[in-house]
Amino acid sequence: MTGTGPDWIPTAAARFIAAQEARLASLSLDELDRELHLLVAAQERQVDRESINLYAGTNIPNPRAGALLASSIGSRPNLGHPGAKYNKGMQHAEQLEVMLSMLLRRLFNARFVEHRVGSGSLANLYAFMATCRPGDAIMAFSDAAAGHPTHHEVGAAGLYGLKVHEVPFDAARMDVDADALREAARRIRPRLIIVAGSMCLFPYNLRAVRGIADEIGAHVLYDAAHMGGLIAGGAFQQPLAEGAHLMTGSTYKSFGGPPSGIVLTNEAELAARLDRIAFPGLTANFDLGRTSAMIVAVLDLLAHGRAYAAACIANAQELAAAMDRAGIAVFRPAARDAFTNSQHVALDAAPYGGGNRASARIESANILFTSIGLPLPSVDGDANGIRIGTQEITRWGMQPTDMAEIAALAARVLVQDEDPARVRPDVIAFRRRFQQIHFVRG
Ligand SMILES: *Cc1c(COP(=O)(O)O)cnc(C)c1O
Repeated sequence: MTGTGPDWIPTAAARFIAAQEARLASLSLDELDRELHLLVAAQERQVDRESINLYAGTNIPNPRAGALLASSIGSRPNLGHPGAKYNKGMQHAEQLEVMLSMLLRRLFNARFVEHRVGSGSLANLYAFMATCRPGDAIMAFSDAAAGHPTHHEVGAAGLYGLKVHEVPFDAARMDVDADALREAARRIRPRLIIVAGSMCLFPYNLRAVRGIADEIGAHVLYDAAHMGGLIAGGAFQQPLAEGAHLMTGSTYKSFGGPPSGIVLTNEAELAARLDRIAFPGLTANFDLGRTSAMIVAVLDLLAHGRAYAAACIANAQELAAAMDRAGIAVFRPAARDAFTNSQHVALDAAPYGGGNRASARIESANILFTSIGLPLPSVDGDANGIRIGTQEITRWGMQPTDMAEIAALAARVLVQDEDPARVRPDVIAFRRRFQQIHFVRG
């Protein structure tokens, strides 16, 4: 919540909001309308056209999906199951639901999907509600293993009243420490064990986690918020086949669709609970424009997902190698012989004063990074890691042969300490060469 002078938000945010409100308050309705469109256009130009967007949790959507988001269909309530709707006059829309469900199940080789979910965060809440009662214990990845806030006390898990314990993590392999997990799980008796978080460099030992969960009667949730597109493309682990009872996802990250959430399972009992959680539980209307846009994204993945997922990984591996050659501190887990087997690359942020400071500095060169927690010594007052994702640059058609140029541009800021404002024109010039979205159907 923001409003007039709230005292619970950061000082920088309070100052920004006050200054913006002072500027906007004096504008007429027409001027505000103009300002609205200027802001959207400027934002699109900056990120879609002039930045090298290496932010891991985003993507450039298919414009045909974007157009469907604008349909009036999104404002039409559509309650209940297709074929048995409460609302009248929705005979066409209910066929869209059937189509999306069928295509998502085909894409992920799953028996059941719940797509009436507002976001990946809400998908996790659905999964918690389907498997746990308030007061139950769960286990989730810690911050150093890139666990997500929704898995923790501050997020959906805590708001639902769950007690969260850490999944023991083998930092040398960036994987679950299965022996320590077995010991801890026998002691803690969690109802749910969550695998994966906001950075997944390598697949996790899900079969071992499932074996441990079976011993104590717990469910396993794989959070595929970041990995949806790669899982769909068959280039990363297949969570449901490897033992996860539930897989949740965000649909605007590697998945490449509109912002939404999904929950998948092969278990009828969980599916029935999820159905009731979605309706009449936590949604009344859901946005059919988004349902339609999702269909475009799923068709893209069914047609081009395999090539796209492989290209994301090839770019990440080459970008990591090129950054390493350029003198950037690329993180490589001690017991692995690769920097990454996914679209993600991690950097040790200590040489750059911390992940947030480095991301803020290189932002001025129009290169977009974010901070992340890594299993490395902490950095005073900042995150100790930087996280990079190649899914968007891959959709813009960049290839392994382009990665040395990106590494060199980043190294000018991070290693040579050049003024980022002087690097920015070169980033924009580089970016101008990539204007076409790839791996989407025309
Ligand atoms: C991004 C993310 C989410 C939240 O997804 P939203 O769709 O943004 O709500 C959940 N879990 C993980 C691991 C994430 O990285």
